[in-house]
Amino acid sequence: GLVESHIPRSNTITPSSLCVIFASYASLSFVYATPNQKYSNRNGVFHHNDFIGKEFGVKVPSRCSDGFVYIMRPTVELWAHSLNHRTQICHPLDQSVVTLNLHLKPGSIVLESGTGSGAMSHALSRAVAPNGKVWSYEFNKVRAETANEEFKKNGVDNICTCEHRDVCGEGFGESCGDGGADGIFLDLPEPWTATEHALRKLRPDGRLCSYSPCIEQTQRFVKTLSDSCHSVMTIEVRLKEFCVDTLPALPMEISMPFYYGTEKVDKARKDKVKAEEERKKKEAEEGEQPKRKKIRTRPAAEMRGHTAFLTFATKSVPLK
Ligand code: SAM
Repeated sequence: GLVESHIPRSNTITPSSLCVIFASYASLSFVYATPNQKYSNRNGVFHHNDFIGKEFGVKVPSRCSDGFVYIMRPTVELWAHSLNHRTQICHPLDQSVVTLNLHLKPGSIVLESGTGSGAMSHALSRAVAPNGKVWSYEFNKVRAETANEEFKKNGVDNICTCEHRDVCGEGFGESCGDGGADGIFLDLPEPWTATEHALRKLRPDGRLCSYSPCIEQTQRFVKTLSDSCHSVMTIEVRLKEFCVDTLPALPMEISMPFYYGTEKVDKARKDKVKAEEERKKKEAEEGEQPKRKKIRTRPAAEMRGHTAFLTFATKSVPLK
């Protein structure tokens, strides 16, 4: 299955394998390999027969143009990028912060609502595999059915089950007994209406997390925790990517005007400045020279913005 990364898996694409289709970094989709089927995108038309029996990672040429795609072995992260978005989803960056801070590990029992597009369900399933359990709840019937179909096709259904249920109105059902959950994840528009139900299912010392895009939702949720939880923490996760580039050197990198440190460092810097002055003099004599370049890191121009606030809390242990 998609989430059992600790089990050696075949690297060969076989009929019904889940295949992530990489057209570009911004364009990922998926197919279940089916003999005699075709997949088309703006890169061209791709015949499943051209990659069935090959190794994952294979580059497949289009049969009608000079375009190509790569067939990738699925991971939870690639799945989040390629799945059909039926709702807003929890992206891999938030997923990893949630699974870490819920203290999930193989064997954990975790409850989740709503299931939405199932992106988070896959991340939770991987964290608790192979012997843990994810009970996911969704009050939209079609979404609940679609999620269960996908869990089956992706080989996650032994770990994750979606139940059609309104957790705010009816609570979390009988799937795990009261006090039986190690962790609970809420991605709901009104999480404060589910707090009482969630705390009933959580074991003492268990961890609860709620994911909300607005600070007002977060504040309202936090208020409902005060009597029964401790270690309440709200964080916002931002992705800041740095890229490595070769750019013209800045003047300060060439002639450092400050001298500090040991004699040796001072001398090295003075020598550098002297060498630079000489180079400039020579350059002026010989006419314009190409600018000196330097490898440097800098933040990527495009930075992923705010997704949501993540609130974590630990259920208090009752005093004896
Ligand atoms: N975390 C999911 C993912 O990563 O794919 C996305 C969840 S989506 C933003 C929120 C879902 O909660 C929607 O599918 C909605 O139908 C469901 N929902 C809203 N209120 C609910 C309730 N009271 N009980 C169960 N599900 C509910």
